[in-house]
Amino acid sequence: MESAVGENLEREVVELRETFISGKTKCVSWRRSQLKALLTLLSDKEDEIFKALYKDVGKHHCEAYRDELGSIVKALDFALASLKQWVAIKKVKLPLAAFPTVAEIKPEPLGLVLIFSSWNFPIGLALEPLIGAIAAGNTVVLKPSELAPACSSLLANIIPMYLDCKAVKVVEGGAMIAEGLLEMKWDKIFFTGSTRVGRIVMSAAAKHLTPVTLELGGKCPAVIDSLPSSWDRKIAIKRIVAGKYGACGGQACIGIDYILVLEEFAPTLIELLKTGIKTMFGENPRESMARILNKKSFLRLKKILNDPAVCSSIIHGGSLDEANLYIEPTILLNPPLESEIMTDEIFGPVLPIITLKKIEDSIEFINLRPKPLALYVFTNNETLKKRMIDETSSGSLTFNDTVIQYTCETIPFGGVGQSGFGRYHGKFSFDTFSHEKGILRRSYLTEFWFRFPPWTANKLQL
Ligand code: NAD
Repeated sequence: MESAVGENLEREVVELRETFISGKTKCVSWRRSQLKALLTLLSDKEDEIFKALYKDVGKHHCEAYRDELGSIVKALDFALASLKQWVAIKKVKLPLAAFPTVAEIKPEPLGLVLIFSSWNFPIGLALEPLIGAIAAGNTVVLKPSELAPACSSLLANIIPMYLDCKAVKVVEGGAMIAEGLLEMKWDKIFFTGSTRVGRIVMSAAAKHLTPVTLELGGKCPAVIDSLPSSWDRKIAIKRIVAGKYGACGGQACIGIDYILVLEEFAPTLIELLKTGIKTMFGENPRESMARILNKKSFLRLKKILNDPAVCSSIIHGGSLDEANLYIEPTILLNPPLESEIMTDEIFGPVLPIITLKKIEDSIEFINLRPKPLALYVFTNNETLKKRMIDETSSGSLTFNDTVIQYTCETIPFGGVGQSGFGRYHGKFSFDTFSHEKGILRRSYLTEFWFRFPPWTANKLQL
């Protein structure tokens, strides 16, 4: 039977295996040189990266730097500064019964790993896991999303110019190539994308017992407690508006999907949001907001908004420009909970607000639904904070801000339940692409006679 990925790619994968077996990528100086080369690539190709991001999703330079280029430079700096510590063998204590033994944990690379990335942060989501895979000493196939073709082709062109092409290869293509790749044997698959494709990836991985990390999506709620101080309100509204509309035009996995707010505070919040949108995006948001990815995504959002019950809940915005794939920043008040807008991930600049009698009811609301990738809670109420921490489950929980957790290398980034599993960023990326091998160094100095048969009566009495 003819291979779905073609003979050339099969040969390249064999070459990557040979490179790993040669031990080259295990060498820490090799890893360091590759991470430095990535830094050089980002600096040399900055303009091309900005252009590609603009072409694919209309990202403004500033947003592109904040969310992709700048955050990857930061991640690389952190990895380079930490690498020596990450690769170090750690001595651990053992119980007395193991005496005399020295115990160690050594992180070792997994081998040849496959990375699938998504289109909404097409540079960042491709390079962030790549940093971890290289730092951990693996060889890599990276398949960027075909839905961001300019970024995918740019990565395929520039990565071989800077990185060791016997160790890192970029493979372009859509579902067919991806499925062909999934038929092959990998030592780890790192996937960023939808829950639907996550399931396909996981069942393909099961065939070879390949470990997977699934970075998926879902609906991320923001709970807004009444904000009594005008200063707090000013800052909170900026962070809420940015967390909904300001990252890839609402097409971000950790962007706010919907708001839960106290009934009495809702009218004030709505007015604050309207003003906040105007302050952040001006009279013509399309100039600074990323556009909807493509016609298919646009039509999906249009259909969701055209549901009469949903349409009648629009209280701000709602205009659609199909030719330019633009949807005005939109706010909905209490759309039906069983409508698609409240059951599926929105992935667009449309913000439903759901009112509650008591802000504490948000806990039950969240717990009745799949565990979110991110949960945001705007409050100064310490009791509510504690309850949110103790009584809800989400990939991450951020108080009084949005999206910022993505940039914090010292906390793990990843989902739970349907929003995925596994984690990365900083040392967590290194761990995701490593196996922690336990090593025992025993000596012949002494031996406990009761460890071994024959199981005589005196051993039973011990
Ligand atoms: P997607 O699942 O359609 O695509 C993701 C990757 O899977 C792409 O590389 C694509 O080529 C590949 N793919 C497509 N069909 C495939 C198949 N049949 N078999 C194997 N691979 C296949 O997702 P998307 O549209 O790129 O991204 C949107 C989703 O991703 C949203 O749900 C969003 O929340 C989620 N997401 C999650 C994160 C995160 O960090 N958790 C980040 C970005 C996006």
